[in-house]
Amino acid sequence: MTCNYRHVLLAADLSEQDDYVVRKARHLAQLFQAKLSVIHVLDSIPMPDTAYGTIVALNRDSSYEMLETVKTRLSRLGDWLGIDPARRWMVWGVPGEEIVRVAEQEHADLIIVGSHGRHGLGLLLGSTANRVLHHAKCDVMAIRFPENVERDQPLPEMVQDTPS
Ligand code: AMP
Repeated sequence: MTCNYRHVLLAADLSEQDDYVVRKARHLAQLFQAKLSVIHVLDSIPMPDTAYGTIVALNRDSSYEMLETVKTRLSRLGDWLGIDPARRWMVWGVPGEEIVRVAEQEHADLIIVGSHGRHGLGLLLGSTANRVLHHAKCDVMAIRFPENVERDQPLPEMVQDTPS
């Protein structure tokens, strides 16, 4: 039995705080020489029409724009991390549920989440991290953000939009 991780799944909310989590994930994947995948869950953009039925029609320009923005950010992030496009997951749903589901489906053995992100400021553990920790079948690493996170070195190629 090996204690090395072989497949790390990074849960990215694509917020600015995520830079730190992203760097850690990249470092750990290199350290373990593990495969790295990334997931972003669309929890605030209406779901488009599908062959299986409509949940909410994606018929407003703003929704398309939001979707394109997320796709671009995920794509930049995947490029920066050197992740094969087939391992960049963008799914609709509840972040905590989808992260756990995709981790199982893809046989990830380590999930990396921020200890708090968009929904957890001020809390000990954000709701997504909490949910993943309690439901994942594999190991979960919750990355705590440092008090004074350095914002002078953002990931330019990644989630940040190019300044106009
Ligand atoms: P939160 O529960 O919002 O405090 O988020 C904690 C962490 O969960 C974030 O740092 C991300 O790692 C992950 N996370 C939150 N929302 C998402 C999302 N929509 N897609 C992927 N990961 C997420």
